[in-house]
Amino acid sequence: MTVSNDLGSTPAISRRGLMLVLSSPSGAGKSTIARNLLESDIGFSLSVSVTTRKRRTSEIDGVHYKFVEKAEFDLLRAGDGLLEWAEVHGNFYGTPRAPAEKAMQEGRDMLFDIDYQGALQLQQQAKHDVVSIFILPPSMEELKTRLNRRAEDSAETIAVRLKNAKIEIERWRDYDYVVVNDDLNNAFQAVKAIITAERLKRDRRPGLEAFTAELLGQTVV
Ligand code: 5GP
Repeated sequence: MTVSNDLGSTPAISRRGLMLVLSSPSGAGKSTIARNLLESDIGFSLSVSVTTRKRRTSEIDGVHYKFVEKAEFDLLRAGDGLLEWAEVHGNFYGTPRAPAEKAMQEGRDMLFDIDYQGALQLQQQAKHDVVSIFILPPSMEELKTRLNRRAEDSAETIAVRLKNAKIEIERWRDYDYVVVNDDLNNAFQAVKAIITAERLKRDRRPGLEAFTAELLGQTVV
């Protein structure tokens, strides 16, 4: 039997898929951390949300989001096509149900970049599979600076997001982990450490039954 340390995406000891929820107010660095995770070899795929928000010039339809009209969003919602949905900063966002359920059935880990309303809905539906992390900025001043640096958003949009940041930050208690992003690399390492520990949790690894049974059946000479 091959004994692996079980830290990769295809461990020797079978494991249930993880639903990693990352939330933060706009500008706290969550999207950069998410991108770093997806570009690393840590084995997560992104749940691509649908949204009625206008596409930013740097975004690709179908990669960052699936951009839809409100009527299409309403149809998806009415047809139970969304695992969760919410109105955020005046736009609608939702998690398509089918890809997420397929990933979970196949034991693959998935990353959800969603707000606190969506995080609560996923926690209610899949309590044991969800691991939630809230990313905080080091200060409100820094948050404002980071929002202004993102040149693609209008002054009005930035103002709405700053105002909503306070409401969002108040939800930190709803999360399993809280990471303060004062240094991007440190925050990224912290998120990776959380993933490593969560992947090793006994309850997530039904394959341990067979592994330990075989281990105990081995004769020591
Ligand atoms: P942005 O417009 O900056 O891409 O995202 C705005 C907010 O909407 C972020 O907090 C982001 O995490 C959240 N969001 C993105 N997709 C979803 C989704 O499918 N569901 C929910 N509930 N929130 C989402």
